[in-house]
Amino acid sequence: MSTHKAADGLSELSVRQLRDRRRRAARRAPGLETVVAGSLQSQRRRCGKEGCRCARGELHGPYLYLSLRVGRRTQMVYVPAELADEVGQAVAANSEVQAALAEISAINLELLRRGKLG
Ligand SMILES: [Zn+2]
Repeated sequence: MSTHKAADGLSELSVRQLRDRRRRAARRAPGLETVVAGSLQSQRRRCGKEGCRCARGELHGPYLYLSLRVGRRTQMVYVPAELADEVGQAVAANSEVQAALAEISAINLELLRRGKLG
């Protein structure tokens, strides 16, 4: 019996099944050129102009931003409305690529435990 029992059940699979699964994960992933990291956030904002309605609490927007971690900071990048769908797809593609990488890495780790990697 195997001494490691992963929650993902990979230890139950044969080497051939692991390789098939790895190949499917790699094929399923969107192209790397399509991704953007971060998440979309809608925010209302204050413009800072004196006497503007936003100073009384009627904020501008909502505007769409791409929120991403840069080191310890969170960076907000404005997303024009006409790019919202495209950026949304790029964010989703990034999640899919990250999920595929995590799965492939877990499979490779399992293969490594069995003394194989390729
Ligand atoms: Zn304002």
